[in-house]
Amino acid sequence: MRIDVVSIFPEYLAALDLSLIGKARQDGVLDVRVHDLRSFTTDRHRTVDDTPYGGGAGMVMKAEPWALALEAVLADASPAGAADAAGGAPAAHDGTADALPGDGSATVGSTDSASSAGTPSARRRPTLVVPSPAGAVFDQAMAYEFAELDHLVFACGRYEGIDERAIDWARGPFDVRPVSLGDYVLNGGEVAVLAMVEAVGRLIPGVVGNPESLLEESHADGLLEYPVYTKPSSWRGRDIPEVLLSGNHARIAQWRRLEQFHRTADRRPDLLAAVDTATLTKADLTALRAAGFDVVDGMLTRPPH
Ligand code: SAM
Repeated sequence: MRIDVVSIFPEYLAALDLSLIGKARQDGVLDVRVHDLRSFTTDRHRTVDDTPYGGGAGMVMKAEPWALALEAVLADASPAGAADAAGGAPAAHDGTADALPGDGSATVGSTDSASSAGTPSARRRPTLVVPSPAGAVFDQAMAYEFAELDHLVFACGRYEGIDERAIDWARGPFDVRPVSLGDYVLNGGEVAVLAMVEAVGRLIPGVVGNPESLLEESHADGLLEYPVYTKPSSWRGRDIPEVLLSGNHARIAQWRRLEQFHRTADRRPDLLAAVDTATLTKADLTALRAAGFDVVDGMLTRPPH
């Protein structure tokens, strides 16, 4: 998968060099490129923002640098550019921006090569994720959806956000997805991008060592994960649940499954209410009823305790 991130703080994205995502980049499993929006400005001061029409507090990101940057990403990802990229190792990331056509003083402001990329027609349009508190809330289902894509582009907003006309313009060449990390406001899109790239990246085959670990995690099946423990079996007067020492894998699996329901009921009753009870097995229902759960009007419930 190729991922491009455009930001006025490319150094913010240096964390993508670390841990499993960093290793996936080194191994060529993920091709992540970070670009400095200011490279696509046309004035001496490298201006990316201006005052809002209609007045009000804060500044708004100008449309033109965004269009130039996104056109350059498209041009670079065209079949010729992609062939070049596939021929070499992924660019080493040193916290600075990666080069793009139209990126740099000699070509700043030149849209010739970039605009000739036009709208990719034969190929699937890249997806442009625009982090925004006014977007659809990112979740595991969206992470799985994005993990199926060949090319994700992230546009990190700052200030009061990006001139809406740039977003409208981008709907031509891109499948545009405004996405929120949650119902709160960050200073910029970079933190949201780090979270999304990590959540999406770990679903790409080859990024996480043991793919089975993905199947048992919270949200993989709509429930939260069961509690986990490691050695020693007794710590500061707290013993691990006896069943985990039994060696009986069927009992352990049953215990874990029930713990998932208890934890989900305690912490995320909204998720418990969303469980499709038609998918529960007979064994599930027997264990759940014995533990005080019930199915009422097709919905799984548990009295508070
Ligand atoms: N004026 C905007 C609003 O009220 O919707 C908020 C702008 S915010 C200060 C600046 C940037 O931070 C946004 O353009 C977006 O890129 C990012 N951002 C803020 N909160 C976010 C969230 N919950 N999820 C994703 N991105 C967020």
